[in-house]
Amino acid sequence: MDLDFDRNHIWHPYSSLIDPPPVYPIERAEGVRIYLEDGRGLIDGMSSWWSALHGYKVPELNRALSEQMEKMSHVMFGGLTHEPAITLCKKLVEITPHTLTRVFLADSGSVSVEVAIKMALQYWQSQGRSGKNRLLALRNGYHGDTFGAMATCDPVTGMHHLFASQLTPHFFAPAPQPKFSEPCGDEDIAELRQLIEKNHNQLAAVILEPVVQGAGGMRFYSPEYLQRVRQLCDQYDLLLIADEIATGFGRSGKLFACEHADISPDILTLGKALTGGTMTLAATLCTDRVAEGICRGEAGVFMHGPTFMGNPLACAVANASIELLLSGPWQQRVAAIQTQLDRQLAPLRDAAGVADVRTLGAIGVVEMDQPVDMRQVQEALIERGVWLRPFGRLVYAMPPYVISEVDLGRLAGAMVEVLGR
Ligand SMILES: *Cc1c(COP(=O)(O)O)cnc(C)c1O
Repeated sequence: MDLDFDRNHIWHPYSSLIDPPPVYPIERAEGVRIYLEDGRGLIDGMSSWWSALHGYKVPELNRALSEQMEKMSHVMFGGLTHEPAITLCKKLVEITPHTLTRVFLADSGSVSVEVAIKMALQYWQSQGRSGKNRLLALRNGYHGDTFGAMATCDPVTGMHHLFASQLTPHFFAPAPQPKFSEPCGDEDIAELRQLIEKNHNQLAAVILEPVVQGAGGMRFYSPEYLQRVRQLCDQYDLLLIADEIATGFGRSGKLFACEHADISPDILTLGKALTGGTMTLAATLCTDRVAEGICRGEAGVFMHGPTFMGNPLACAVANASIELLLSGPWQQRVAAIQTQLDRQLAPLRDAAGVADVRTLGAIGVVEMDQPVDMRQVQEALIERGVWLRPFGRLVYAMPPYVISEVDLGRLAGAMVEVLGR
């Protein structure tokens, strides 16, 4: 592979083209392993950023793709429809929290967040309350890289200052403090409550990642906190947008993280694992109330419609992925991953330089005192046959659910060796 060309001409996520970090050439992937050009296999501890739940080269998914390809790879969704989209949307309505009944298919996670925000704004406009046009988001939150989504990310890690003049100034509550297993007291929700009490006339919605804050800090928080937010949204007439792009499809131990709190949002975003890591596809679901509100408004329609909306290949492989997930023992697998990560990462709790070790579902996080040297840590892990991508002070694993006990042992063992030094 022409790595020189790559280094000088191709942007990678959050990369420099002056001082590019190393990129490793991958030739193929199978099971839980990605294979370097030189033939070495690396256990993928990232599931290609939360998405490859079933690992790689999955026969069921490949079959769905090739069968759909024989019929049609794509057709416009304006004025036309097809079976893969109908089957998928039916399935999503069935498995997501019960009040969500209407589905918008989008191309990527960030776009599904844009769609969610537009839904909330158009809903209040159609109610004659266009002053409700701000959002309340959480510190340490992450919702994507496009402008609307970026404006709801943590102001510091989301680098708001770089784009300050172009970003809608939203409201931010402190990151939830009570941990996953802790109750949420009045004081834990006090600042968020005050922000809502003071600004509800300007607020269209609260947007948050339920229970697991992902890219903004890999933090797990109390489901009771989420229940309290739901209550406040009801009390002050705000919509609740749950961003389950990372947590959806079982990663946190429940099919959707909202289930930990037994709540249903008004708007839900899904992405990442939706197609089992094969193609880009996302979805925004909403309630009857939101959909009908929007369509009774001035515009009479919801104002969004991407070119590749409802791509049949992506829908077909999403259907196959969901079927494969739900027909297997995913809960046991995710629970077993948590138990094993808990046990194997435990020695790091007392290691020098380690601030915290936490697990939830099929996610294991080691938080260091200081930012880690990504190149050095990555190289040391690769030497041990493991692929992880640390950021800041965090080194974390979220492997495909199909990982064997032996491979998970290698993955966690490599983390302990490299971080425990
Ligand atoms: C990854 C992510 C997004 C953005 O999705 P993209 O597909 O990268 O645009 C939004 N919200 C959350 C919670 C995510 O984890």
